[in-house]
Amino acid sequence: MAELINTFSWSFSAASDFEVCRRKRYWSKYAAWGGWDAKAPEIARTAYRLNKMDSRHTLQGRATEEAVRWVLGEKQAGRTRTVDEAYETAARPLLNGAWKQSKSGAWRADPKRNVCLHEHYYPELHPDLDPKWPEFLKEHVCLCVRNFMETVLPRLAEVRVEDEVTIEKMESFELDGLTVYAIPDYVYRQNGDWHIHDWKAGRPHPDHMKQLAIYGLWAQVKHGVPAEQIKVYIEYLKEGRVAMEPVTAAMLDEARALIVESSMDMADYLRDGDARKNKPLPREEWDMTPDRRICARCTFYELCKPEFEEA
Ligand code: SF4
Repeated sequence: MAELINTFSWSFSAASDFEVCRRKRYWSKYAAWGGWDAKAPEIARTAYRLNKMDSRHTLQGRATEEAVRWVLGEKQAGRTRTVDEAYETAARPLLNGAWKQSKSGAWRADPKRNVCLHEHYYPELHPDLDPKWPEFLKEHVCLCVRNFMETVLPRLAEVRVEDEVTIEKMESFELDGLTVYAIPDYVYRQNGDWHIHDWKAGRPHPDHMKQLAIYGLWAQVKHGVPAEQIKVYIEYLKEGRVAMEPVTAAMLDEARALIVESSMDMADYLRDGDARKNKPLPREEWDMTPDRRICARCTFYELCKPEFEEA
């Protein structure tokens, strides 16, 4: 098998992590590389395992996404389903499986295929967590699915399967030689327009529209869709509200500028600033956030803890 190369790449989530804490990118992009191999150094295996960690928030998002995709598929097949059916069929198996995996410790041997939850791994970082959180999680997923059925599904009822755009698991496009990962939740074509939807099970954030603009850029660069034929929708499922914007050329220019600026900042942490070689500076050069509240939610807490204690 050809040797895997750790190439420099960009994604909105990687850029967000980098903004929050430089060290986080070091752990996830560089220290974790090769950590899937049982013969890799322990620190690489630990970083790789921690990089795969979930939390109740990410799990909630995944379960919601699974359920709304199921509801949508059923609708397209001519079947109208209930919230309970969606939860029982699509969300509950995922949540139960994740819970069992996390509790069993199966992720120690195979972190790629087994969920490890932050709440189980770092109980000391969740001192005030209500023990009923699994019930709240279920209620939250059901609320999101209900809102999806009431506010989103009617708008998507006419979309035919053949109008949907296939999104690869690691969907990406090339921008001046840089691989940019952009993985929208749901995209379809209608009358020449491209409609790009993102499901959000959590709270609104001002940066969400920037993320959607990156998806707009993906449609333009990879598929040649003119800006005026791209529409983006952030579906806030908890609130049952949509934020929609017609894309403009200026918006895509801003998205492009964001990628260029952010990737240059990231390259500053590489030897000779050389993104082609993509060799990281020593770990100590990657600044740690001074905000310990962010650390308390971070999957890499275990790796940074010795430095916190020294400080
Ligand atoms: S624990 Fe804190 S300092 Fe360490 S990577 Fe996470 S956010 Fe950064």
